Amino acid sequence: ITDKVAELGPQDPFFSFEFFPPKTENGLRNLYARLSRMSLLGPLFVTVTWGAGGSTAHKTLDLAATCQAELGLTTCLHLTCTNTSKEVIDDALTKAKKAGIRNILALRGDPPREGVDPEHHGHFQYAVDLVSYIKAEYDDYFCIGVAGYPEGHVEGADNSDQDMNSDLPYLAAKLNAGADFLITQLFYDTDKFVHFEQTVRSHDQIKNKDILIIPGLMPINGYNIFQRASKLSHASIPDSVLGRFSEDIQNDDDKVKAIGVDILSEMVSRIHDKTGGRIRGFHFYTLNLEKSIAQIINKNKLLSEVLRKKEEEELKENSSSSD
Ligand code: FAD
Repeated sequence: ITDKVAELGPQDPFFSFEFFPPKTENGLRNLYARLSRMSLLGPLFVTVTWGAGGSTAHKTLDLAATCQAELGLTTCLHLTCTNTSKEVIDDALTKAKKAGIRNILALRGDPPREGVDPEHHGHFQYAVDLVSYIKAEYDDYFCIGVAGYPEGHVEGADNSDQDMNSDLPYLAAKLNAGADFLITQLFYDTDKFVHFEQTVRSHDQIKNKDILIIPGLMPINGYNIFQRASKLSHASIPDSVLGRFSEDIQNDDDKVKAIGVDILSEMVSRIHDKTGGRIRGFHFYTLNLEKSIAQIINKNKLLSEVLRKKEEEELKENSSSSD
């Protein structure tokens, strides 16, 4: 991923998509058709989620391998390590390498409610342990990403209110252990993201001030799901965003989606402008859905540049092959 970003021009925008493995065969077939269409939008990379506690390990590995090896998409495999044996991690990394996957998003995951199995405690407690393990075993073979929380992680060090600052020493540890990039939790308050980005870059414990930071954005596909996803992710919704969904339209999915496209497109532009263009890559939590993403990319001036360039290149290729 970092190599692909480095190959872009210094101002060139990019975007990426997150997918999760569907439960059924039918769902998987639909997703493959969608993936083929969405790859035409020109994502720089795609990521595939790892179900809590490895519950989707086989499906995740299959989907990620297909994205990389068959669809030719640069793929990043999510991998969580809490309550997980070393064998499961080794197996996932071996299979990822075999499929040609070069990127891992190294995560802790959420421990089960009943607590971590004592047998697995000690190997990998936090994401930093997984980053260090991958580095030790694979050196630079994998490009490693980690999660960042513009509004803090819920379990902030003292278990009190969420606070970005209590996470920062641990984020620094993950980055300094060898992470190459960071993707954030979803958020709707762009000021909080901008503050986070600046704080990370100026933090005295974080060695790489130029670390690739990619904001994670979730399109708004329905009012209730938007509320639920924000609550689950502990993302605050500023009044300027919430106020756009007046009561009379909250049940009108088409209107909610259209407003959501405007909001997301504006967020992309604002983040780009407020960071002086330092942030030019955006990661979309697609929920395996296609339409809103395509509309946001088409609507946003910066992101539609990616499409325009892709079409230009294809035209060139087609005309040279017909010559
Ligand atoms: P860590 O970085 O280990 O941090 C977890 C908590 O522990 C934080 O509160 C941190 O401050 C604290 N902490 C860290 N180190 C220490 C230490 N040494 N001492 C004390 N406290 C410490 N979950 C899934 O199950 N599957 C997925 O595919 C998935 N994908 C995700 C993708 C992104 C981009 C993001 C942002 C999250 C994703 N998650 C996923 C959710 C993630 O697993 C949870 O948010 C999890 O609770 C924390 O994971 P982490 O890697 O950030 O953990």
